[in-house]
Amino acid sequence: MPGHIAILGGGIGGLSAAIALQKTGYDVTIYEKHHDLIEVGAGIILGANALTSLDFLDVGDDIRKIGYAENICTIRSDRGKKLTELTYDGSQTTNYTFLLRSELTHILASSLKPNTIVFNKKLKDFKQHEDSITLYFEDGTISTASHLIASDGIFSTVRQKLLPDKQLRFAGYTCWRGIAENCPNYIEKRFTETWGPKGRIGIVPLSNNRMYWYALKNCLADDLEFKQWKSSDLFYNFINYHDPIPTILERTSDEFINHRDIYDLEPIYQFAFNRILLLGDAAHATTPNMGQGAGQAIEDALFLALCLKDASDITQAFKNYEEQRLERTRKVVKDSWMFGKVAQIDTPLLCSIRNKVIEIAPNKVHHKKIKELFDITKTLKV
Ligand SMILES: Cc1cc2nc3c(=O)[nH]c(=O)nc-3n(C[C@H](O)[C@H](O)[C@H](O)COP(=O)(O)OP(=O)(O)OC[C@H]3O[C@@H](n4cnc5c(N)ncnc54)[C@H](O)[C@@H]3O)c2cc1C
Repeated sequence: MPGHIAILGGGIGGLSAAIALQKTGYDVTIYEKHHDLIEVGAGIILGANALTSLDFLDVGDDIRKIGYAENICTIRSDRGKKLTELTYDGSQTTNYTFLLRSELTHILASSLKPNTIVFNKKLKDFKQHEDSITLYFEDGTISTASHLIASDGIFSTVRQKLLPDKQLRFAGYTCWRGIAENCPNYIEKRFTETWGPKGRIGIVPLSNNRMYWYALKNCLADDLEFKQWKSSDLFYNFINYHDPIPTILERTSDEFINHRDIYDLEPIYQFAFNRILLLGDAAHATTPNMGQGAGQAIEDALFLALCLKDASDITQAFKNYEEQRLERTRKVVKDSWMFGKVAQIDTPLLCSIRNKVIEIAPNKVHHKKIKELFDITKTLKV
């Protein structure tokens, strides 16, 4: 047996990596700092690339069973005018699948061997040795492993120790996410994102008459007023936006809303550090503008498994993974940052200029980009 691999963090990246490694024959343990995997108040958009990767992990069909499938994201002005459609011609699969984060996490965790996850284990420190790695947890316990996959998220303890100079970047906007329950049947079930002077809001249909929404507004980091906002504040902020935005906000109770400022990690140039590998947000946290953070973490897991399958040495497989993932993830982070800059324009004059430019831009331009993002079958040689 090639050794025991420790995975830090039971988020989407860590769970996907564990499934991928178990399928490849590795012995893995996930160490998670929380006492369970519950994620409240948010849906998730999975691009076709994420679903293709999840098919390789044998969980794609479980996700399709409960997810809501859609091929187009329509960008609208605050008055409801269609500006453009984010899709691409010739796609063989569904471009977007929507479900609750908790549903995705549950499906991933259920695919693992029993007792793969150890809860209440917050990593404090680690030491690399010639032939192993030692993990020190806050509860005073110690574990050893042959290798460590650090999928401990955007605020990664492991990355901060390996690359202490790398700081997170505040994107200049804050985000609320919520779920509206019992939505009336007359509400059109379409994936739309609306851009206007009072902010940006995405509406995402889910199964069982639920709608997931996300709203973004420009601000300074840690804005004290926005931290207090409830669904009623969001309702009044977006009251003049087109239907069904106000109705959906009105139907969201405060307990189903979560809020956070948006940060990313300016691209780094190393993911493999001998016996340690950074994966998911720990390696390449991106702004959520393209709905690709989790998608890239899931892709990471798949590519890691493919590299391990072909390699005799795990450390070398980590290097091969780094080579395959650096450019792709860097591009996603960069494009998503730029997308956010355009989408977050909120002065009325610039909004109307931006909207005009988007309306007349040929679809071919973004269709090509979306195809590059979603269609990973060529890279996987299937
Ligand atoms: C507002 C918003 C909307 C988004 N929407 C989408 C979307 O629609 N589609 C999409 O693809 N992506 C989306 N993303 C991005 C996505 O959420 C992340 O990219 C994804 O969750 C990353 O997964 P991860 O496993 O790398 O990190 P995380 O999900 O952050 O998981 C990290 C895990 O590590 C654990 N952990 C942390 N530190 C320690 C420690 N010291 N010891 C032990 N455990 C530890 C944490 O508890 C957590 O469980 C969005 C992000 C934001 C902010």
